[in-house]
Amino acid sequence: MHAMNKHAFPDPSHDHSACSGSVLERAERVCARRGARLTALRRDVLRHLAQGHQAIGAYEVMARMQSEQGLAPAPISIYRALDFLQAHGLVHKIESRNAYIACNHGHADERAVLLICEACGMVAEMSGGPVFEALDRQAAAHGFAPARTVIELAGRCGHCAQMQEVSSA
Ligand SMILES: [Zn+2]
Ligand SMILES: [Zn+2]
Ligand SMILES: [Zn+2]
Repeated sequence: MHAMNKHAFPDPSHDHSACSGSVLERAERVCARRGARLTALRRDVLRHLAQGHQAIGAYEVMARMQSEQGLAPAPISIYRALDFLQAHGLVHKIESRNAYIACNHGHADERAVLLICEACGMVAEMSGGPVFEALDRQAAAHGFAPARTVIELAGRCGHCAQMQEVSSA
């Protein structure tokens, strides 16, 4: 398991082809190891999500496929592909936006907190182990067994905060 970056948000000038390449490589690896089929459609959906660090909705994925190939699969097929990718930890759903991002970290079963920048739209992940454990304990104290915990923080990334400082100086 890779440790997640200390600074979760990539520098805006970073070489993104390295990110998208590693997302697809990891997908091949994970699916091969689990005997899961990374079909052309599933791979395509992941490739479109991996094009940036902004979350996009299922219909945006469909629109991109349409403009690239002149034809897009039915929404149900896109949703099924997204379910598959989510189940294998390759994609995360941003519940508050009903949108998806490709996972840029190999965090295995460790749960991640999603950080959403409201200025640039970038979404990053932060290791959230202790936070989730604390919530699980609190919930258990109330006799509640959580099946799914989603933590999304909306705010401003370091780069956008810096830009704002510069422009207001
Ligand atoms: Zn990138
Ligand atoms: Zn992730
Ligand atoms: Zn930002």
